[in-house]
Amino acid sequence: MKKVGGGGGKARRKVREPRFCFKTMSDVDVLDDGYKWRKYGQKVVKNTQHPRSYYRCTQDNCRVKKRVERLAEDPRMVITTYEGRHVHSPSRDDDDAARASAEMTFIW
Ligand SMILES: [Zn+2]
Repeated sequence: MKKVGGGGGKARRKVREPRFCFKTMSDVDVLDDGYKWRKYGQKVVKNTQHPRSYYRCTQDNCRVKKRVERLAEDPRMVITTYEGRHVHSPSRDDDDAARASAEMTFIW
């Protein structure tokens, strides 16, 4: 006997790092999210003159990555994709201006 449907037929994949992606209308590519990032790569994206940039959290034991690119259809929009989970708190220095301008909450 065979029962079709109901789903669950997908092969179970390895659990990947959680991803979190959002779009923001912004002039600056790298939004201040309270963490420190180091750029480690850049890639030319077809159909747009804006390259895609790759960043890594500067914290030694933290493996969170961030990808920043602009929407091809609307270059005013920045797409930020986070991959992974920070193992530490945001490293806010004495960043009063940043705190006032961007109040962001991340739910992991
Ligand atoms: Zn981190």
